[in-house]
Amino acid sequence: MLGVFRAVLLPMFRNSLPFFVLTCLGSSVCAQSPAPAPTPPPALPAGMTLVLPTDNDALFRNDGPAFYMFVDRDFEKVKSTPWEGGQFGFVRGPVRLGDQVIQMHFHEGIDIAPIKRDAAGEPLDEVRSISQGEVVHASTSPGASNYGRYVVVRHDWGQGPFFSLYAHLSQIKVESGQKVEPGTVLGTMGHTGSGIDRRRSHTHAELDMMFSSRFDEWHTKNFRPSPNPHGAWNGLNLYGMNVAEFFLAHRNNPALTAADFVKQTPPAWKVVVPRKGELEILKNYPWLGEGIDQSSPSWEISVADSGLPVGIKTSAQTVTKPTVTWAKDEGISHTYHSRGYVSGTGETGTLTGSGARFIELLTGDFEVPPPLPEKPKVTTTTKTKPAIKTPPKAAPKKKKK
Ligand SMILES: [Zn+2]
Repeated sequence: MLGVFRAVLLPMFRNSLPFFVLTCLGSSVCAQSPAPAPTPPPALPAGMTLVLPTDNDALFRNDGPAFYMFVDRDFEKVKSTPWEGGQFGFVRGPVRLGDQVIQMHFHEGIDIAPIKRDAAGEPLDEVRSISQGEVVHASTSPGASNYGRYVVVRHDWGQGPFFSLYAHLSQIKVESGQKVEPGTVLGTMGHTGSGIDRRRSHTHAELDMMFSSRFDEWHTKNFRPSPNPHGAWNGLNLYGMNVAEFFLAHRNNPALTAADFVKQTPPAWKVVVPRKGELEILKNYPWLGEGIDQSSPSWEISVADSGLPVGIKTSAQTVTKPTVTWAKDEGISHTYHSRGYVSGTGETGTLTGSGARFIELLTGDFEVPPPLPEKPKVTTTTKTKPAIKTPPKAAPKKKKK
């Protein structure tokens, strides 16, 4: 199935729309001059071929139970194994709010179930790159992250860097710096990392944007003396889109780019932040910008419930610190479906402590931490992902991946 899918779709994935958009953003000629004699667009930097990361293609048959790995749920004294917990989004951590039960824990990727196991139950599925790119991180030490052994691949589709991430591998077959094609084997499915056993072996896959090249400083400021062995490839610096929906949408419309998909994601809240220089995220992903003025007192950033920024505007508002200006009213506290970044109800909200740290990383507006005076006495274990990504109250110690 994989081979057929790739062969059929490969030629159709090349399109020139995003390149035109980027060209226009950087040029004042674009909006004002009459169109000159048509010139061919520059060659695309890379085609955008997409293939699923394993042989499990049940996603394309709308077979959720076959595609997703279930989670173990124990809620109100009832144990269950819902496959829905393997999807992207708020699919875990049920809490009862009166008559309704909501899921408050965010799952930033998709958990793809194995289709081949050996006699002992170990998964045998190959895990492959979803598109062409370059391996930028191969974390071979299973204890160094909740992701277990994981690989990050950078994709340059002409819209700023996107990163696919493949976690819980039993073994890794690539090295950092290696170029990969769609379908290049990266490793083997496994169950390394926290909150996962052989029974629930799966590949946790993400498709992310990166926040900051200053991630190490931010991590030191917030988590020292806990080390960060992953550099900028720490999951806290990578924010994911709904990768399953993107696969489906892209299959229906091969001209759809990752940038298009992100921009179509509805915002869950908006924050206005003081403008201090340019935003790295806007430099890396210029298509996030809408009507950017040369100067303004502040930026307005639209954020999806996942934490992914989905739009940036210049704002005439003067603020002294990041200020939430709007939140989607779901009739419940914003804390539940903002990953704990925003509190309050209705259409107003307030940044929480973790929300403020999140904005610091997103904007790069934070002080470099001073060096520690003495050797620290207390050490904590490295937390790659869940440390601030779950709501501050009632969050579990460990997040099942
Ligand atoms: Zn997962």
